[in-house]
Amino acid sequence: MAYYQDNTIIWLNGAFVKAAEAKTDYYSQSLHYGYAVFEGIRSYQTADGDTKIFKATEHYERLRNSATALNMPYGWDTDEIIEATYEVLSRNNLQNAYIRPVVYAPANMSFNPNKESYLLIAAWEMGLFLGEKLLRVMTSSFQRPNPKGFRIEAKASGHYVNSILASQEAKAKGFDEALLTDMNGYVAEGPGANVFFEKNGKLYTPPTGNILPGITRATVIEICAELNIPVEERLFTTDELKQADAAFFCGTAAEVIGWESFDEVKFPATWNDTLSRKIQLVYKEKVTAAGKEELSKAG
Ligand code: PMP
Repeated sequence: MAYYQDNTIIWLNGAFVKAAEAKTDYYSQSLHYGYAVFEGIRSYQTADGDTKIFKATEHYERLRNSATALNMPYGWDTDEIIEATYEVLSRNNLQNAYIRPVVYAPANMSFNPNKESYLLIAAWEMGLFLGEKLLRVMTSSFQRPNPKGFRIEAKASGHYVNSILASQEAKAKGFDEALLTDMNGYVAEGPGANVFFEKNGKLYTPPTGNILPGITRATVIEICAELNIPVEERLFTTDELKQADAAFFCGTAAEVIGWESFDEVKFPATWNDTLSRKIQLVYKEKVTAAGKEELSKAG
């Protein structure tokens, strides 16, 4: 996939530059040690034809928290970089897009902290792909990183080696995606998405602590409140998940995507008859709803 063309514009440390001409430092501590933090954000064409970034403030606040958790200097103002992000979208004629901000470190081959960080914001086209196909998911042989060894709630680049290994393993075995357990063997999350299951009219999802606290996960919990669907955050095992009526992954890129089976065990409910499907539809309405994102300082 071509992420950029000759005329693609990115935002780099305050300036709009061509992606093809932008320079990075090959001695960056981020490149060598995975010491960087990033976000995955989506924008959508709204019902009235506008472009809206979904939960931009939440994503950029998480970026700040991720950087802080890794002791990376972070001096950007959320509202200013949201505006810069809209400008990146507009300069590249993007409406339905995936936005990738990355905070990375200068040249530094030691493990010492840095006096400054760099921020790049890139975007590329990504359409809605909600519910196109139900997933066949397997339990990964890889567990999520131990939260005692990492700042697991930070969206840190280095953590994604674990995600890549798990996802590659699942695909090599003929599955669509992996599900990872935590260091105690409880269900944690997918390589790039949180997990919910539905049983007897109620939803369950692992609590925060050993997972990335997803913005889509929070949105699903909001939708459950709006629809009066009970939802419980608690630990559960892969055996309990196999007894579910239905299950889904949720994440900014994945949106809400149902599962066909888990470890070859098919879920008994027809996806279109589940509460999970209702949530999927409401999620789609929310992300494409008209009205601009409220900036944190607005009003
Ligand atoms: N867990 C992991 C490991 C992820 O990479 C993601 C994607 N950012 C998620 C969960 C879902 O997070 P969000 O809904 O904020 O995209």
